[in-house]
Amino acid sequence: MRTVEALALIRSTWLSKISRRFARGEELRENFEQSLSQFFNLLQQSVETGDPAWLNPVLNEWVQSRTLTELDNPEANLPPILNQILQITIDICQEKLSEGDALEVMQDLLPVFLYASDFAMQKETALRIERIVDELQRANTTLERLDKSKSDFIAIAAHELKTPLTLIEGYAAMLWDQLSLQEEFDESKILIHGMENGTRRLREIVDDMIDVSLIDNNLLSINFQPIWINHLLEVIEQEFKDVAKERNQVLEINRFTGSDEMTFGDEERLVKAFRNIISNSVKYTPDGGKITIDGRLLPGFIEVTISDTGIGIDLEDQPLIFEKFGRLGSVSLHSSSKTKFKGGGPGLGLPITKGIIEAHSGSIWVESEGYDEVKCPGSTFHILLPIRKVPPDDKTAKLFQPLSDIEGTNDEDNY
Ligand code: ADP
Repeated sequence: MRTVEALALIRSTWLSKISRRFARGEELRENFEQSLSQFFNLLQQSVETGDPAWLNPVLNEWVQSRTLTELDNPEANLPPILNQILQITIDICQEKLSEGDALEVMQDLLPVFLYASDFAMQKETALRIERIVDELQRANTTLERLDKSKSDFIAIAAHELKTPLTLIEGYAAMLWDQLSLQEEFDESKILIHGMENGTRRLREIVDDMIDVSLIDNNLLSINFQPIWINHLLEVIEQEFKDVAKERNQVLEINRFTGSDEMTFGDEERLVKAFRNIISNSVKYTPDGGKITIDGRLLPGFIEVTISDTGIGIDLEDQPLIFEKFGRLGSVSLHSSSKTKFKGGGPGLGLPITKGIIEAHSGSIWVESEGYDEVKCPGSTFHILLPIRKVPPDDKTAKLFQPLSDIEGTNDEDNY
C-alpha cells in the first residue's frame, strides 16, 4: 500500500487521538482540530512530493501562536510536541496497518518529522529573540523616560531654587554690610557668617544641578582659550593645600612633560572638573593619606592621573559613579562635608566632570582594585585631553589669531 493511502486510512483515528492528547476544552479542540487536519493534509502532500517544506505554513502558524511562557518552557516547545505526535502516529500505524505498511509509513514520515522539528526549533528561537528584543526595547524606553523625568526634575528644581536663593544671598549681604559698619563685636556677625556659608553651599548645589541639566541636554558651552595644565594645577594646589593640611594628607603635584604644553580648553570648567575629582580624593582618603597628581604626554593627548590612597571603588561600581546621583550604597557616609572623611555629596560631581571632559572631546575613567576601608587600595582617575594647537571654532580663532594676520598690522608695525 502507498504511504499516502495508508495515511488516509489512519486519518480519523489520528485526528481524534492527537486532539484529545493536546487540546483541553471543547472550544480549543474545535480550532485545534482544524489546524491538525491542515497539518495532516500537508503531511500527506510532503510525503507524496518528497518535499517537507509543504508543512511550513502550518508550522509557522503554530510557532506564531506560542506565548512567551510556552517559548520559555523547553517542554512546551514545538520539537518535543512534534516528537509526541510522531510517537502517537507510530502507535496508530502499528495498531491499524500491517507490519510492512506500518514500516514503510514510518520510513517516509521520519525525515518529514525531523525536518518539521528542526524548522520549528529555528522559528521558535527566532521568535524568542524577537520577543526578548521587544521587551528590552520596552524596558529601554521606560528607562529613557525615567532618565528624562530625572533630568526635567533637576532642571525645574534648580530653576525654582535660584530665585529664593538669590533673595536670601542678597538680604544676608545687606545685613552684613550694615553690621560691618559697627565697630563693636556683635554676635549677629557670627550668625550671618553661618548663613552665608549655608547659602554658598546651596548655590554650589544649584549650580551643579544647572550644569547637569545642561550636560544632559548637550547644551554645556565651552569657552575655548589657550590653557596650560600647569596653571590649572597651580589653582588646584592653592585651593586644596589648607584642606590637605587639615586632614594631615600629602598633596603631591608633579609637573610632568606635557603639563606645560599650550592647548585650547575652558580653564574655568576644567578647574571645576579637577576640583571635583580631587575633592573626592580628599573625602574618600583617611587622614594621613596621600593624593598624587601626575601625568604624561601622549601622541596628540595629555593624560592627567589623580591617585589616592583611599578606600577604593568596587569594580562593578566603577561605571556607576559617573552617572547622576551615583552615590554608592556600599559606602556609609558620615556627613555632607566637602572635605571630611567620607563626607557625602549629592552625587553630581563626577557626572559633571565627565560631561566637561567629554565636551573637550576627552575621556575619563577610574582604576581601583576594589573597595576596602581597612586595606585602602586607593583609586586612580585618568583624564585624557586632546592637544588642540589651533582654536576649535571660528569665534575663538578670530580672538586668538596672530597679530600679523589682522589687516593693517604687520610685525614691523609692532616695533
Ligand atoms: P558625591 O557628591 O557623592 O561625592 P560624586 O559624583 O563626586 O558624588 O562621586 C560619586 C561616588 O563615587 C561617591 O559617592 C563615592 O562613593 C565614589 N567615589 C568618587 N571618588 C572616589 C574616590 N577617590 N575614592 C573612593 N570612592 C570615590
